[in-house]
Amino acid sequence: MEPTFLVSAPVYFHRQFPGPGMAGEPGDSGHIDLAPQQWAAFRDALSKRASVRELPPSEAAPALACLGRHALAADGKAVLANPRGAGRGPEAPVLRRWFAEAGFQVVEPREGLWFGGAADCAADLERGVLWLGYGHATALEAGEFLAGVLETEVVPLRIVDERFARLETCLCPVGGGRVLYYPDAFDERSRRELERRVPPAERYAVSAHDAVRLACLGLAVGRVFFTHHASRELESVLGEWGMRPEALRLSSFARRDAGPRTLALDLSATVRRVDSSARRRVLARRDVDFATPRFEPRLLEEALALVHAEGGSFHVLSLDPARRPQREARITARVEAPDEELLDRIVALLVSKGGVPRADAPTPARLAAVEMDGVAPEGFYGTTIYRTEVCLGDGSWIPIARQRMDGVIVVDPAARSAVVRLIRDLRAGELVVVGSDGIAVHVARQQEEEDGAPGHFAFMSSQVSSERRVETAVDKVAWEMWRVRQREGRIVVCAGPVVVHTGGAPYLEKLARAGYISALLGGNAIAVHDIENSLYGTSLGVNLKQGAPVHGGHMHHITAINAVRRCGSIRAAVEQGVVRSGLFHTLVEEDIPFVLAGSIRDDGPLPDTIMDLVEAQSRYMDAIQGAEIILLLSSMLHSIGVGNMTPAGVRLVCVDINSSVATKLMDRGSLDAIPVVTDVGLFLNLLWRRLQELGGH
Ligand code: NAD
Repeated sequence: MEPTFLVSAPVYFHRQFPGPGMAGEPGDSGHIDLAPQQWAAFRDALSKRASVRELPPSEAAPALACLGRHALAADGKAVLANPRGAGRGPEAPVLRRWFAEAGFQVVEPREGLWFGGAADCAADLERGVLWLGYGHATALEAGEFLAGVLETEVVPLRIVDERFARLETCLCPVGGGRVLYYPDAFDERSRRELERRVPPAERYAVSAHDAVRLACLGLAVGRVFFTHHASRELESVLGEWGMRPEALRLSSFARRDAGPRTLALDLSATVRRVDSSARRRVLARRDVDFATPRFEPRLLEEALALVHAEGGSFHVLSLDPARRPQREARITARVEAPDEELLDRIVALLVSKGGVPRADAPTPARLAAVEMDGVAPEGFYGTTIYRTEVCLGDGSWIPIARQRMDGVIVVDPAARSAVVRLIRDLRAGELVVVGSDGIAVHVARQQEEEDGAPGHFAFMSSQVSSERRVETAVDKVAWEMWRVRQREGRIVVCAGPVVVHTGGAPYLEKLARAGYISALLGGNAIAVHDIENSLYGTSLGVNLKQGAPVHGGHMHHITAINAVRRCGSIRAAVEQGVVRSGLFHTLVEEDIPFVLAGSIRDDGPLPDTIMDLVEAQSRYMDAIQGAEIILLLSSMLHSIGVGNMTPAGVRLVCVDINSSVATKLMDRGSLDAIPVVTDVGLFLNLLWRRLQELGGH
């Protein structure tokens, strides 16, 4: 069949495209007024090589000239576009009429099914596939729709660089199965898929220089390649392929991201018919359920964002927001991806957010043996902060112990037990969960599930507090701490030296004496400065009462370290009467355990500071076991370290003058972090006052 194209003069073009586009020719403004004359030259050139039909311009449809964005024609069928963001425009009725009169069977995507027209398609007859660009104007689901309509194999390619939002700007068929493409416009999977199907001799990766000048918008007709831009290098590649570039001046279109392929809609395109039974499925899909004690819009948003970021699509099949108390919110979502491998990866990510893939019967977790001490098997499941269960071979579910993030699950099927272990602690022969089958993650707040009183801290949990809200936050924290102490639960404090500098340490002492601290975690500095203060009344050489540096004060902290080193430990220094007051004196007297983790900043260090970080991490982890509340006081380093090893359900009260510490903690998915952005000395003062008001000590 003789190549035939449909074109439409850009008479009303200026109404549609008032702004500048990204590409332009040097010395040529690409002014909109040049459009009619540039278009006419293109039409004349094209008419010499192909049969050209003209669609009369329509005042009501000013964008008609860019025909490739409004429809796809192949094998006597015309599929009208419905691009995301724009929807069906005024061009649709004009084209519907024209195609029907021209004898085409007109097909339209259903409402909400986004399809960007020929601008997102490239037929590859040699390989019998239709490449489909998705991610911007076109949705992934359009692939299945097109495969059905055109009875052909569709290969979806995800475009991630929004500068090349339409496939026509990053993939160009040049005839004979050869293609020009810009690899960086696609995600990794799509680029691999394209390169797997097209052998190296038949593809050419255009440079960024050619790509941004929209070289891929060129149109191949027989041996001629109509283009408004091609570098020398690209011209020579085209020459080697037996193509003759014919340069056109189309600057007023290029400035609006349009080129020869946008302006000329191929009416003679054909696709290779493939029987539906032989056709590869365009989409792999699985349904995933989410159930939470109450509806968490954030959860849904996160899941949606995650699926899209990975290149899949997600629709909610049913949503029951649990308006009635005592009922769970339930969401069932259908997840779709271009292939099973990607779908598996996306579903595994959703499982870590609490999703449970639908299956007729429970699928047991897959286990693989550790082959080398300290190394997890390939494909291991990485844990989150959320309470997790594992399905054993007999279909029963067991909870896992020592929940924390960034660990792996070790299962002992005989003992019916499962525990989270860090990779470095794995031993050869242990069985580790791989993949995400048979995993159920409960993203709800544990405390809520236990006491059935949702939202104690709901007012704070999703945003960082402002100063105005500090008092209210402290009230709530005090009340919760008081309740935990009443039931003899554990409260752990993790604090940095700022507590001492700001005069907060005496309040921590009072909390310790009143039974509010089960363990204290910190670094070298908090102990050094507390002991310095006890010995010399200074913290970093500054007199805490007068707020002024004292003469020779710069020596105080190392002298304090030296004094403790002479005694052998902080406890020994207290017992020998060297340290007679202060926070650490109180901790020793009250027999409250403390763990000091070392860092590269440490002076000394004190004999108690654990410089082996693996050892320090596991001592921290032991100390937080069973904690209901952890106060994270003004130490970015230690607060984030503790946050990473704490399971969901533990209240993390994060007090810092800088909101970024709390934000970092919340990013790990903790709904239980309570950010209090304020001076830690003021916080502790206020907290102690509130606790005194509650009484009982
Ligand atoms: P860090 O930078 O990790 O955290 C300090 C945090 O305190 C910051 O997030 C900051 O925003 C916050 N902050 C500052 N002023 C505040 C205020 N008035 N109220 C509330 N928050 C305030 O530093 P770090 O945790 O103090 O120290 C990191 C490591 O270095 C620790 O291991 C520590 O022991 C060690 N260190 C050792 C020495 C020493 O040995 N001489 C001295 C300093 C730090």
